[in-house]
Amino acid sequence: CGIVGAVSQRNIVPILVQGLQRLEYRGYDSCGVAVQGQSLPGTGSAGLVRARSTARVAELMAQVEHTGLRAGTGIAHTRWATHGAPQVHNAHPHFSHGPGVAPAEAERPGRVALVHNGIIENHEALRAELEQRGYVFSSQTDTEVIAHLVDSLYDGDLFAAVRAAVARLHGAFAIAVLYRDEPHRVVGARAGSPLVLGVGEGGTELFLASDAMALAGVTDQIVYLEEGDLVDLQLGRYWITGADGQPLDAAARPVRTVL
Ligand code: GLU
Repeated sequence: CGIVGAVSQRNIVPILVQGLQRLEYRGYDSCGVAVQGQSLPGTGSAGLVRARSTARVAELMAQVEHTGLRAGTGIAHTRWATHGAPQVHNAHPHFSHGPGVAPAEAERPGRVALVHNGIIENHEALRAELEQRGYVFSSQTDTEVIAHLVDSLYDGDLFAAVRAAVARLHGAFAIAVLYRDEPHRVVGARAGSPLVLGVGEGGTELFLASDAMALAGVTDQIVYLEEGDLVDLQLGRYWITGADGQPLDAAARPVRTVL
């Protein structure tokens, strides 16, 4: 239903959760946030950590304040369930830990974290294929296949893995993805569900959102992604490509000032 993401050198956890609050009016049944534990100097926890809730976003906010979660890179989601009941284990972000990790271990830090708006039509076939390769699922969602698919295709470059993964998806989606070993990177893709890029603080911090409204008060510099676009957010720079992975020039996807 709603997506927010960020790559910055300051703590973006409040921005992610407040972004979700700005999207609450659209309705949702659960919400969550995942961050890169090592994306800010001096913040300890290794790898990808998450918090999820079937209560209001305010409850998620209380959870992250209670745990003192801080990070410069992260993604967040409000879910409107289509596949899988509105329960915490089905809430996004979804993790992949790589093949062979049993659900009981699933709360350990993830290797891939992913949020998704939309529906993956071929999720059953992909699930069977990934289970065959040793991936253990911990939800009933269509979304979780994308996290394991990205993990299975990862070879040192998150952008390449996401591009290869989305080529195998049928359906409607906007996604935002993190990989454990790339602490200052968020990769997004859009096909059938909206996604925008926000350019903040003169380009030194970058955001993703399913709706520019989620970034109100954070940045008014917005790039509207088009169907089939992929976007690669790193510290202070971004790339947008078509589905073929070829970079688009700035004139093709201009930065617009929204009021
Ligand atoms: N199909 C996904 C799910 O049920 C995403 C739903 C949404 O867009 O929030 O988890």
